[in-house]
Parts: sequence; structure tokens; C-alpha cells
Amino acid sequence: MPVHHLFLALAAALPWFSPAAAEPRWGGARDALVVIDVQRCFLPGGSLAVTGGDQVVPVINRLAPRFENVVITQDWHPPGHVSFASSHPGRQVHQQVPMPYGPQTLWPDHCVQGTAEAELTPDLKLAHARLIVRKGLRRDTDSYSALLEADSRTPTGLHGWLANMGIRRLVLVGLATDYCVLATALDARCLGYAVAVVEEATRGINVNGSLARAWDQMQRACVERLSVEALDAPPR
Ligand SMILES: [Zn+2]
Repeated sequence: MPVHHLFLALAAALPWFSPAAAEPRWGGARDALVVIDVQRCFLPGGSLAVTGGDQVVPVINRLAPRFENVVITQDWHPPGHVSFASSHPGRQVHQQVPMPYGPQTLWPDHCVQGTAEAELTPDLKLAHARLIVRKGLRRDTDSYSALLEADSRTPTGLHGWLANMGIRRLVLVGLATDYCVLATALDARCLGYAVAVVEEATRGINVNGSLARAWDQMQRACVERLSVEALDAPPR
């Protein structure tokens, strides 16, 4: 067996011998914590409330200080947005309508630009965040992902900013696991980032089994499912 094959076989057998062992703990200059859509509209009492959504806030507040790069996203729709059931007479929330970019799930009116509901919850303690990215601004196109709009082509600008900053690893937290966190994770993997989602810092909407499907899709895309304890642990 050639020597380098032996090395690879050893590396596979011994996790602590693999190149991953050289990866630093999350939170350095090449990492960003991306805090997705922790807005009043998605919290209990909001127009598109995610069950237990408020429980992610203290976890995010505890994680954030260890990241020098923190990015916040906001769902930020104009009135009459294509994702609102009210924009499609005769249609109901959770139904789908065909759009040029694919099926669009319909939601209650939510996160309308400039409304109090669209604001980040004041309970977030993220004063050191570098960037706020707003998405879903075009009336005729939704954007679950913080990187690309629903047409899978139009950039939000976040990828350019991350590249400019030399950031290669993303830790995703926020709402909702099975929509905006999922879409951001998959786009980030396609764009070449290493991606982790912190399980305790996210909650799902879970329409027709969407939450289990989301974790399955992320696992297949090699998105790491992290616990808060794993983030606290020293590097392998
Ligand atoms: Zn939305």
C-alpha cells in the first residue's frame, strides 16, 4: 500500500488523526454566527409565531459573545408580498401556489417592512453584530435563504460580504429550522461554506413533517448538527 493511502486509512480509522483535528474552535476570524429572523412576527404572539421561538433567544445571547463576526437577518416584506395568502384570493395559509421559481407556500401577512412586528426582538443582546441583512424585499419573489432569493439566482449580498471578510464557516441559529435556517444552510453548502446549526438555538414550524425532512436534508448536505455543549467543548 502506498504511504499516502496508509495515511488516509489511518486518518479514517482515527478521528483525532484527521485533518479536522486542525480546525480551531468555532468563533474565530473565519467564522460567523448567522442569527436568522429572530423578529417579533416569528415569536409567540406574532403573526407567524414559531412554537417555542422565544426559547432560542437566551441561547443565542449566550453563544454570541464568543463570535467576533455576528450577522443578523430580517425577513422584510413589502405589503402585498407574494408569500402572503391574502395576496391570493381564495387561497389559504399553508397552501402552495405556482410561481416562476417553483411552488410558493402561503403564510399569514408577516414581517412587513417598517412595522413594529418586523423588528428584531429587543431581548436579543447582539450589540457587537457587524451586519444586518434584509431579505424578501421584492414583492414577487420570496427569500427564505439569507444568501439567495427563491429564484436561486438573485444574491442578497451576504455571500459577497462573507467572501470579502474571508469567512468560510457559518454557525446558524434562529427561526425557523425547516424554512429559513434550512434554505440558508443548503445554499451555504452549495457556495462552499462549512455549516453548523445549533440545535437548541433554533425551532421549526413543522408543516406536514417539514421539520424532520429539514434535518434529513441538512444531514445529507453535510451540515453539522451541533449542540451548545459541542460548541463549548475544546477542539478535537
Ligand atoms: Zn417571509
